[in-house]
Amino acid sequence: DAIANQIAAGEVVQRPASALKELLENSLDAGAKHIKVIVKDGGKQLIQVIDDGGGMSITDARMSFERHATSKIRKSEDLFCIRTFGFRGEALASIAAVAQVEMKTKRGQDELGTLLCVEGSEVRKQEPVQCANGTSIAVKNLFFNVPARRNFLKSNAVETKHLVEEFQRIALSYPEVSFSFFQNDMQLFSLSPGKLSKRIVGVLGQGYQDQLVVCQEETSLLRIKGYIGKPGSAKKTRGDQYFFVNNRYIKSSYLHHAVVNAFEGLMAADQHPFYVLFLEIDPSHIDINVHPTKTEIKFDDERTVYGVLKAAIKQALGAHLV
Ligand code: ADP
Ligand code: MG
Repeated sequence: DAIANQIAAGEVVQRPASALKELLENSLDAGAKHIKVIVKDGGKQLIQVIDDGGGMSITDARMSFERHATSKIRKSEDLFCIRTFGFRGEALASIAAVAQVEMKTKRGQDELGTLLCVEGSEVRKQEPVQCANGTSIAVKNLFFNVPARRNFLKSNAVETKHLVEEFQRIALSYPEVSFSFFQNDMQLFSLSPGKLSKRIVGVLGQGYQDQLVVCQEETSLLRIKGYIGKPGSAKKTRGDQYFFVNNRYIKSSYLHHAVVNAFEGLMAADQHPFYVLFLEIDPSHIDINVHPTKTEIKFDDERTVYGVLKAAIKQALGAHLV
């Protein structure tokens, strides 16, 4: 019912950026190779994601807005099984409970696609439509029917910053997918598929072009790959620091400390290193923080992870300085 949907929505959708994250993950799950994001007014007016993924049949399109309707069978070994568990099949239903959603979707084998408009969980329109293969979902006027939440949103500038951050994390972790991002008709990103190093420069700025040091390590527990910034590129501001575990963005002050520690003696105490590091680890060695929207993580053997990471960074820095 409407109330249950609104409550669930509060868990999944805190702000425009959380809706964007869910839409982008769905596009990637659908095998999209090109993804276009359009936001207006910090996402308050519009958050739209257009993909060239598999698309949906009429029935699937209709079903996708039902709570607990998921077409995805999650593997139990999925790192984020805990995260996705409570939210399995809830994202679109939750978003549609608190916004005006317009979906256009078409599978490659279908002649016509489906247009579906849902507003506050009510289906307002469903009809065949001529459209490209893939899916476009436009989320308009988020929280239009929950004034308390709408008022709680920050300024357009702040919400845009959150949207961009969410977009950057996802774009960094899928360098093989092309992405573009438009804000109020201005293009902020245009990212063609390619190597991680190129993606980092595309996402985080030209300034990193000649500043990347490759970092690679593999042990029985853990595989590490990615880039760190040359010590000279360390900044006084906190800057760009990204950890991905099994290709999901996470925050970890513990792992951050390992990196900083490895830079010891190579940068001033008030400087911060740049890094984009991907860790791969058997999911049975990880615990996800209980709250599903958190991006925090616990390792069974965090000391070892710390040690391996620090050694890998030191080695990369050593090789670079030779
Ligand atoms: P979940 O992703 O957990 O299955 P969602 O509410 O995010 O739940 O999506 C519901 C369903 O809608 C998905 O399982 C998928 O079948 C379908 N879907 C959503 N977005 C897309 C998309 N961009 N392309 C194809 N199918 C989609
Ligand atoms: Mg989803």
